[in-house]
Amino acid sequence: MADRYVYFFGAGETEGSKEMKDLLGGKGAGLAEMARIGVPVPPGFTITTEVCRLYLRGGRYPDGLREQVAASLARLERATNKTFGGDEAPLLVSVRSGAAFSMPGMMDTILNLGLNDRTAAALAAASGDDRFAFDSYRRFVQMYADVVLGVHAEHFERLIEDTKRARGISEDTDLSADDLRELVARFKALVRDHTRADFPEEPQEQLWGAIHAVFGSWDTPRARAYRRINGISDDLGTAVNICSMVFGNMGSDSGTGVAFTRDPSTGERRLYGEFLVNAQGEDVVAGIRDPLHIDGMEQALPNSFHELVEAARLLEDHYRDAQDLEFTVERGRLYLLQTRNAKRTGRAAVRMAVEMVDEGRITPEEAVLRVDPGQLDQLLHPMIDPGASVHLLTTALPASPGAASGRVVFNPDEAAERGAHEPVILVRRETSPEDFHGMVVSQGILTCRGGMTSHAAVVARGMGKCCVAGAGDVLMDEARRQFSAGGTTVKEGDWITLDGTTGRVILGKVPTVEPELTDDFHRLMEWADGFRRLRVRTNADTPNDSEVARRFGAEGIGLCRTEHMFFEGDRIDAVREMILAETGAQRAIAVAKLLPMQRADFEGIFRAMDGLPVTIRLLDPPLHEFLPHGPAEIKDLARKLGMDPVRMREQVERHHESNPMLGHRGCRLGITFPDITWMQAQAIFEAAVNVQAQGVTVCPEIMIPLVGTAEELKRQRKIVDEVAAEVFYQCDTRVDYLVGTMIELPRAALTADRIAEHAQFFSFGTNDLTQTTFGLSRDDAGRFLPEYVAAGVLPDDPFQTLDVEGVGKLVDMATRLGRGVKADLKVGVCGEHGGDPRSVEFFHAVGLNYVSCSPYRVPVARLAAAHAALNDRTTEPRAAPAPVADAEVQEIEAMAAD
Ligand code: PEP
Ligand code: MG
Repeated sequence: MADRYVYFFGAGETEGSKEMKDLLGGKGAGLAEMARIGVPVPPGFTITTEVCRLYLRGGRYPDGLREQVAASLARLERATNKTFGGDEAPLLVSVRSGAAFSMPGMMDTILNLGLNDRTAAALAAASGDDRFAFDSYRRFVQMYADVVLGVHAEHFERLIEDTKRARGISEDTDLSADDLRELVARFKALVRDHTRADFPEEPQEQLWGAIHAVFGSWDTPRARAYRRINGISDDLGTAVNICSMVFGNMGSDSGTGVAFTRDPSTGERRLYGEFLVNAQGEDVVAGIRDPLHIDGMEQALPNSFHELVEAARLLEDHYRDAQDLEFTVERGRLYLLQTRNAKRTGRAAVRMAVEMVDEGRITPEEAVLRVDPGQLDQLLHPMIDPGASVHLLTTALPASPGAASGRVVFNPDEAAERGAHEPVILVRRETSPEDFHGMVVSQGILTCRGGMTSHAAVVARGMGKCCVAGAGDVLMDEARRQFSAGGTTVKEGDWITLDGTTGRVILGKVPTVEPELTDDFHRLMEWADGFRRLRVRTNADTPNDSEVARRFGAEGIGLCRTEHMFFEGDRIDAVREMILAETGAQRAIAVAKLLPMQRADFEGIFRAMDGLPVTIRLLDPPLHEFLPHGPAEIKDLARKLGMDPVRMREQVERHHESNPMLGHRGCRLGITFPDITWMQAQAIFEAAVNVQAQGVTVCPEIMIPLVGTAEELKRQRKIVDEVAAEVFYQCDTRVDYLVGTMIELPRAALTADRIAEHAQFFSFGTNDLTQTTFGLSRDDAGRFLPEYVAAGVLPDDPFQTLDVEGVGKLVDMATRLGRGVKADLKVGVCGEHGGDPRSVEFFHAVGLNYVSCSPYRVPVARLAAAHAALNDRTTEPRAAPAPVADAEVQEIEAMAAD
């Protein structure tokens, strides 16, 4: 016997079920399941995804398929008491694609298939409604020609417009039966002109043409691109659903609509949706007429409305999740055409999940898994009002979520001045640490260059400000104080709005909605905390950031970038004096000026993080970033420091580097300028001793950046330990502290066992580790990475989602090497990946102890860590070294699970 390729549903003869989603696709499995549990569906049958696979592989349908389709069609004729192609009660069908995952880019629906001149006349006679019959016919010709024959729908729309104009009417609904009959003839002539063939009259030919088009649509470039971006295998294939037609356009007792069992934007438990009386499904989607709110259906079609409410209840109970329904009412009889888990906003997802636990439908574990961590961003930041209409200038990288409006300013000084009185958006080619004062006061930041870990992106995320980065389409004209994008010129002082969640740059001031952290949110997060194994820390440089992060549930600071403190107020002059000092004595004076300021910074942070660990990283960026630029600034600084300007210029030039990212930065600074390490260590330990004396529990962890060799770490640690001993001796007390290192260079990862001998912890700097592993500058990557990702050369921006295959292999290997030397070595991550859900899943899988991320991403990381633990269920960290190949298998499994 031939394999089974077709499954019937409805009329008490259902063969499929919801468990068969892979074989029947989401839509087919949903129809079968609805029929099974007594929800009214029009009968029909599903051709399996396996046929699609066989057809695409072999270029032909499998033996037995045609017979099985014919048998199912006969069964459908019996169930409906109609005949396909019949002269009296013609059976008409809809044909729809349906893969296991809902997928844009595949074939749309074809309705009313089976109509030709003969059956249209029969339909008119059977329904007693000529207009209905010919309206159905013209819709069918139009849809079929568009989807199957490739004649674009707009040609048909033009003919409809011509007819309406000639008849002096404005609405489609005013077209008479004769108009529609004539339109069908004109549509067919149009098809002949375009395809050089007659429109297929024979229903069997129509049916196989449609089946063919569905299978073919699996392989279109758009569908392929969608699958690649979303990690869906090309091998799954789509099913074809052939369903007997029910008509919502058979008069005032008919209609069609969509409904959600709970409000998809707020999560409230009430039926939500839209409905049109006397209309076919496409009218709701096409927006030709304004649909009614679903509540209006109660008056228009009370019985059907109550049946719908009952079906919604049944389906939600059955699926234990909010459903998104499509339905049609034909002459007072309700039919459900589709059910699937409803898409929802982050806010709705949280509320639905928590309420379903309270209703006893799902467990807290399920509730936690129901909320996509990425969606939490929407709850934590202001959002563009979803109802607002916008003038889009361009779309670039969504570098830091949230939404903000302000007046355009092009330089940070201007931002600092203007930002004190009114909202501003700082627009820069790219930002550097020097722009910090302007960034702090801006509502949002827009840059033309740079990627997801560019300075602007990192700083904005840290401050919870929205940022759109790498907007290559924004053409700056600083001389004229304007930029242009999308054909529009925007001048300084004009209002723009940034949407850092989607990367949109919008002209004008667009209303935003504020986030609110509800009780539901806190309850869900508490459940998540109970399940996760990874700890979640934050990257914070100020007491204020630390407090925000703590409110979001941070369990310590994983990265305090001390260089950000160097730009505050007039400290920069002292920093410059330190760098430009020509003698040890001069440097000691400058360092002495900085010491109390740094000490006060650390005291503030230690207080804010009372009882929690605080990882402080010693100075990292190349020194020239702190130095004056241009003759005017040099002259000004020379005057302030009492130096000869010429000599100063020479000194500044001495610090110039061709490739500063790979130059004199990180621990290389501390090694060549040990005074800096001394000063920072002293400030840390004095601050720790001071606040400890006030009753604060301090746990400092000093982190040495950009270490490439064990020797570098050894030398820097020696200084730190010496300073600690000295401070403790002077103060006659001590505090517990750790000294560790960042692993952010491939050489450090490769020699992690040697490095671990001198380290009390590791923290992966995955921003630099990505940059150096790929040999790809993190500040320039924004120029072409989006193209790489769009073309599928890379699956994701590796500065956003960890490149598990390459960078991840280094992370895994270095962790094993380090723990091979020190079994209980604490290992974390403080690159931006620490707040990216997919990367967090990987960090869990390779047994890290914590991730650290920007304050506003802390809840995202907490939830992602809970997902990782629940999906894995092995909560013990992997301590024992194992071959790297094992890790690869786990990575693949983690990705597949994702
Ligand atoms: C890193 O490189 O991942 C890191 C955290 O350091 P920074 O971004 O400051 O270079
Ligand atoms: Mg780094």
